[in-house]
Amino acid sequence: MSGPPGRELGREARSATPAPAQGGGLTREQGAAVLLVGLTGGIGSGKSTVSGMLAERGAEVIDADHIAREVVMPCTPAWCKIRDHFGPGVLYPDGSIDRQALADIVFGDPGKLALLNEITHPAIFERIAERLEAAHDRDAIVVLDAALLIETGLAQRVDVLLVAHSPKEVQVERLAAKGMASSQAKARIAAQLTPEERLARADLVIDNTGSLEDLGRQVDDVWRELERRLAEQRGRAG
Ligand code: ATP
Repeated sequence: MSGPPGRELGREARSATPAPAQGGGLTREQGAAVLLVGLTGGIGSGKSTVSGMLAERGAEVIDADHIAREVVMPCTPAWCKIRDHFGPGVLYPDGSIDRQALADIVFGDPGKLALLNEITHPAIFERIAERLEAAHDRDAIVVLDAALLIETGLAQRVDVLLVAHSPKEVQVERLAAKGMASSQAKARIAAQLTPEERLARADLVIDNTGSLEDLGRQVDDVWRELERRLAEQRGRAG
């Protein structure tokens, strides 16, 4: 990576503010630093479980899926564009977006998927940048939990790309325990990046094949490594 890419999101956020902070990037005037960690993985690989464990150890978690829902709330600019381009069939009677109806339209239609992404991605990126820009008066490890981190290009803007990995059978089994039919789980896994594609991009990997205890131990190791990298970043900034 050339330089800390996580800084790019900080820069975007500051370009919307009148007076850029001294020091550049995500480094705060007070000398505090932020390490931006992108967390991704296949469906049911354990992203939420890992982000919860990282939060317990002190990370600030930004849930991209939550933000993706926020930016299409009724009457937001993205919601208006979706209504105009995709029609009233993608709205529930109360005006909220019927995400399944929208997913059905864009699934297998790259043009429509690209249009939806053009509408939603800038709004999502802007909201993430706002969250990062929100004052940090202390050093922070910020985890951006995003299923489509690599696909959306956000992975290029994080300081550390952390991948949660589970073998396909384990994904299907855990999704079944959450009530998803095995055929649906397999279809969704098949529509995602392959594990090889994801792992090739990873800076750090958590293998979530085993027990929650095993996962906790790996998260401890990852947390120590993130703290080390944050200290390094702080040293560079100072
Ligand atoms: P999604 O892609 O659906 O958002 P996810 O990648 O965030 O899923 P989780 O929700 O964290 O994955 O995990 C999927 C399911 O597997 C959850 O019910 C979770 O409690 C369970 N789970 C995760 N890791 C383990 C583990 N090591 N042992 C047992 N169950 C686990």
